[in-house]
Amino acid sequence: MKTEIIAVGTELLLGQIANTNARYLSEKLAEKGIDVYWHTVVGDNSERVAEAFRLALTRADLIILSGGLGPTADDLTKETVADVFGLVLEMDEAWEKELEHIFARLERKMTDNNYKQALIPRGARLLVNNHGTAPGIWLEHGGKIVVLLPGPPRELMPMFTEQVLQLLPERNGVILSRVLKIIGLGESAMEERIADLLANQTNPTIAPLAKHAEVHLRLTAKAATRGLAEVLLDATEFNLLQRLGEAVFARDEETMADKVASLLFKKMMTITVAESCTGGLLAHMLTNVSGSSAYFLQGQVVYSNRSKIELLGLQPELIEKYGAVSEEVARSMAENLRKRSASDLALAITGIAGPTGGNAEKPVGLVFIALAAAEGISCRKFNFIGNRETIKERAVMAALNMLRLYLAEING
Ligand code: ATP
Repeated sequence: MKTEIIAVGTELLLGQIANTNARYLSEKLAEKGIDVYWHTVVGDNSERVAEAFRLALTRADLIILSGGLGPTADDLTKETVADVFGLVLEMDEAWEKELEHIFARLERKMTDNNYKQALIPRGARLLVNNHGTAPGIWLEHGGKIVVLLPGPPRELMPMFTEQVLQLLPERNGVILSRVLKIIGLGESAMEERIADLLANQTNPTIAPLAKHAEVHLRLTAKAATRGLAEVLLDATEFNLLQRLGEAVFARDEETMADKVASLLFKKMMTITVAESCTGGLLAHMLTNVSGSSAYFLQGQVVYSNRSKIELLGLQPELIEKYGAVSEEVARSMAENLRKRSASDLALAITGIAGPTGGNAEKPVGLVFIALAAAEGISCRKFNFIGNRETIKERAVMAALNMLRLYLAEING
């Protein structure tokens, strides 16, 4: 089944928003073994939407349109599709009542525009919107399947997975992807370790993608069933893990913070952080995980020398002798904080995020990260490259990675 996705919206053409709906739909369709051949983007203009839709009808069997289902004048997808097929729009009484309930609950008056949202082309099936007022539409006409979905991703995604997927015909085979996330190895170092696997890849395919502080490997398998595709992915993942080992920190949607959170939960350990050059980003990442209060006790942004002395009790002589960006200061920050906060673990970061402040001896990107635990303190020196934001992000990821490796190693 050849599929075309048409995203309607002038904001997309202006570059104001990214076409994440097409990405999401393509991914879900691939999992079901349905081939997406075209992504089209068109502005909120009925003639051009009609032109794009007519072209899609000449080449695709399944056409999914997103956006332009709202109540305003520039929302014209439904009207255009009905017009191309020569279908009249009829009021869906159940949705009309639903809209009246929604508006009554919100104590808002319904306008004619709002009633327009309950109109659907004759012969179409309405897809309930549990997160908004514009319903979706499933239409079979002239041997084609046409699906209209609302633009907001939080409305489109559940509607597609909960209602559209099961209406789509079963295909022969599925395409399944899995992402392995890698840290601590650059893209070229990683490629060297897996060169033979990359050279001989057919099914699954392996595609590397470098991100700021991590590298992703996307494995994509085609097979007759989901189970067989999983087996192929498992085998390739096993081979990759043999070569990349602990550099692989997570899979698919899991983030570094999620990984660290699950380890802290499992080991029932608490953490505190003292940050200089990362300005609170480490605390932000750790608290991005719901339930983080179980392990995160406090974070201190000790940016100035004075705050390092006053809040963490660092010896002024230590800073004078070694400088604020030094192994000695990082170690002392971590150990003092751990003792003062009575946490199991403390992470400390001190470095030069740039673009100013570096010199030959201590260049921009130099960062010391210390981890204090009951059995001692470990400290690592890093030389990151990138702009200020990238250096901060890399430093935080490296700190979380130190924590991950420590937690993975300890028993209990
Ligand atoms: P509404 O009822 O909110 O008007 P709609 O179905 O008419 O919904 P649009 O007006 O086209 O949809 O888009 C609403 C919002 O949805 C956009 O401002 C944008 O934030 C988001 N959106 C629309 N299309 C896409 C897309 N292809 N990818 C990601 N987000 C999108």
